[in-house]
Amino acid sequence: MAQLIVDVSKEYNINPLFLTGVMVAESGFGTVSFSRWYNNPMAYHWQNALMKNGLPTYEPNPSRNRKYKNLKIGFQEFAKGIRRNIYLKAARKDLDAFHLLYVGYRANEWMGTISKVYNDVLGIKIGSHLPVNNIGEYIYTDWDKLTKQSNDLKIIDKFISWGHHTPKKPRTIDTIIIHSAYNALGDDIYSVEGVLYEFKLYNAGPHYLIARDGTIYRLVPEGDIGFHAGTSKMPDGRTNVNNFSIGIELLYHKNESPNEIQYQKLVKLVKKLKSKYKIDYILGHKDIAPSRKTDPWNFDWQKFNEMLNY
Ligand SMILES: [Zn+2]
Repeated sequence: MAQLIVDVSKEYNINPLFLTGVMVAESGFGTVSFSRWYNNPMAYHWQNALMKNGLPTYEPNPSRNRKYKNLKIGFQEFAKGIRRNIYLKAARKDLDAFHLLYVGYRANEWMGTISKVYNDVLGIKIGSHLPVNNIGEYIYTDWDKLTKQSNDLKIIDKFISWGHHTPKKPRTIDTIIIHSAYNALGDDIYSVEGVLYEFKLYNAGPHYLIARDGTIYRLVPEGDIGFHAGTSKMPDGRTNVNNFSIGIELLYHKNESPNEIQYQKLVKLVKKLKSKYKIDYILGHKDIAPSRKTDPWNFDWQKFNEMLNY
């Protein structure tokens, strides 16, 4: 059964956990007998009276229970079904939108079960309205290809060993902090290795670094708490900003501004993060630590906001 789920999931680029989650949600752990409802494309009637005369055949009448020749075909039909455009469109939104289409009515227990499966197995918190957009990321394994937005954003993983830690419980992210930095110790002020060496000296761990040529490096996994904000305070009074924020560093000298490609990449990265998390604040480091910090230097917030909202 597990192999069958994996095989069909691979064939159709479906996350096997989603298929499993749907099975659990639809009929608990009696999984082979799941889904007798006509709107469920996985319907498979092993208990059907027709079984007496051999395996049931597919019943195409949507007003009646569907029947498949075998479980594999049932899974395949399910996979084909949720790859239809109408589902891909719903998957650009949240689990709530997806389930309303899939189930056909509000079924909080369905969403609750899917969420629990992901939480128990992967430690990922998804809920009715989390992530705010792109639930497809957790349903389709080729989601990046299916969505243009994340497709044209190349991110290079360059994880650092310092300046961050993994929280015991998954954290909630609602803030993005923008920083700037440059390599003050060597000849090349734009040296990525140089600025990383500085970060290491200060045990600093921003999540992303956007180099002068626009290359985006991921230094710390988003789920980890990165040390980038230091002693700071939010407009709403919260402290310990690292706990709920993602830090993005832009690489340029303090007498300069971000260049065009850096603004563009920053906007794309922020859009992507906004599609993943419910972001309430996008602030500069100096906004939360005005007595200590002056970065991001010469940053054009009006330009940034216009690009972000375009
Ligand atoms: Zn900073």
